[in-house]
Order: sequence, then C-alpha cells, then structure tokens
Amino acid sequence: MTTYTQLSANLKSLGLYKIKENLSLYIDMINDGNKDITQAFYELSQLEINHRREVAISCCVKTAHFPFLKEMNEFDFNYQPSIDRRKVMDFMTLRFLEDKGNIIFCGSPGVGKTHLAVSIGIEAAKQRNSTYFITFHDLISQLRKAKYENRLETRIKWISRYRLLIIDELGYEQMDPDTANLFFNLISSRYERSSTIITTNSPFSKWADIFGEPVFTNALLDRLLHHCSVININGPSYRLKDQLPANEKKD
Ligand code: ADP
Ligand code: MG
Repeated sequence: MTTYTQLSANLKSLGLYKIKENLSLYIDMINDGNKDITQAFYELSQLEINHRREVAISCCVKTAHFPFLKEMNEFDFNYQPSIDRRKVMDFMTLRFLEDKGNIIFCGSPGVGKTHLAVSIGIEAAKQRNSTYFITFHDLISQLRKAKYENRLETRIKWISRYRLLIIDELGYEQMDPDTANLFFNLISSRYERSSTIITTNSPFSKWADIFGEPVFTNALLDRLLHHCSVININGPSYRLKDQLPANEKKD
C-alpha cells in the first residue's frame, strides 16, 4: 500500500468523504505550484463542512414530511394582494420560533395557505429546527390510535418535542368531544413552549361547529391565539390562474 492509498483509506474510515473525493485534485494543484498548502487544507476542510451542512439540512427537510417542496421565492405575492408580504417575510426570519409564537393561515381553498406554511417550514428545517408537517386529519387519526393503544401521553410528548409543528387543513371535519379533547391536550402541551402553524378554511366564528362546544372552543382559541399572527387570505384560488386562458378561449 502506498502512503496515498493509506491516506485515502484513513479519510474513508474517518468519514471525510469530500476531502477524500477532492484529495487527488488538490495534490495536483499543490505539486503544480497552483495552490498554497495552507489554502489547500483550508479549502478541503471547508468542502467537508459544506457537505455536512447540506446533508444535515436535507435530513431535517426529509424528516419534516412536507407534501411538496415549494419555497417562498416561488410564491407570487402580486397574485394575492390581501397578504401582507412584510409580515410573511418576517416569519421567514424565524423570530416567531424564538417567541414560541403561532401562525394561522385562514382562507378558502387554493389561496396558498399550504404553500406559505411549507415555505416557512422549509426555512425552519434548513436552520436545523426540528419541524413536522401533518394534516389535521392524520394528526387526529394518530392521536385516536395512540389513545386506543394506551400510549397517548407518549405520543403527545413526541409530537410536542418538535420546535415547529405544521397542522394543515383544520376544519374539513367535525369532531366528537373525545377527539376534540385530544387536540386540546396537544395544543395545551405546546402552549408557550413551541410554535405551531395551522392552515384552515374556517374562520374562528365557525370553530365551535368543528369542535362542538363553544366553551371548549374558547379555551382552545385562548391558548392558540395568545401569541399568534393570523393571516387572513381573501382572494381567488391560484388554481384558477391556470384555467383562465382556457376560459378566455371558450368565450
Ligand atoms: P391552499 O392550501 O390554500 O388550498 P395551496 O397552498 O395548496 O392552497 O396552493 C395550491 C397550489 O397553488 C399549490 O401548488 C401552490 O404552490 C400554488 N399557489 C397558490 N398560491 C400561489 C401563489 N400566490 N404563487 C405561486 N403559487 C401559488
Ligand atoms: Mg392546503
């Protein structure tokens, strides 16, 4: 074995894959007098650091279970003028995470609620904050199942551990008191500890219809809205945008 092959094997066993991959290239540059040795060591170490950061980011994004990967730069604010762009861009600074604040996006289907929630979630995950995306329907099913299996407390603790929880599509189904209670437990356990983003098509005035009892709904809203930014989106569905040319052709 030559020293080079041994070095290469050592780098592999140390998990320094980027350095190993670029080693030969850098040795050539040093031998040709095109690269100072200190600079070469620095650049190789930087390649490894960058690579590790990328792996960590993609790992955080993967574990978040986003339904799609759309970012804020793909959101057309001109199409939805009712949205205060400055507020949304402030969410992207993740200040709300520090403050343990919540965000609620409210509006009819297709106005971009999920897109905005996902974009903020991706940013949070990229900055290495544990993030989890789940639809309200799946969340409730999971909690129901956990209760049935007598491990509700563990499940709620597990979900509460995420620094950012995104609950998508609240309001498409009515709940029995037992299920409403499960949701209440979850929100209470996260209250002032970690942030939750909720997307919903139901204005708060209709939440009592979803959760059943008005007194209960008020207690839930009290916790959710205490440190919360509410973004009401009033505008056309973005899906209609693609249909417009077709409609115009028909006319
Ligand atoms: P909602 O959750 O409000 O029903 P979505 O966020 O799922 O709506 O949006 C529906 C589709 O339209 C998605 O593919 C989303 O990326 C896209 N979309 C919605 N609003 C915009 C927008 N203003 N700019 C760019 N794409 C948008
Ligand atoms: Mg949606």
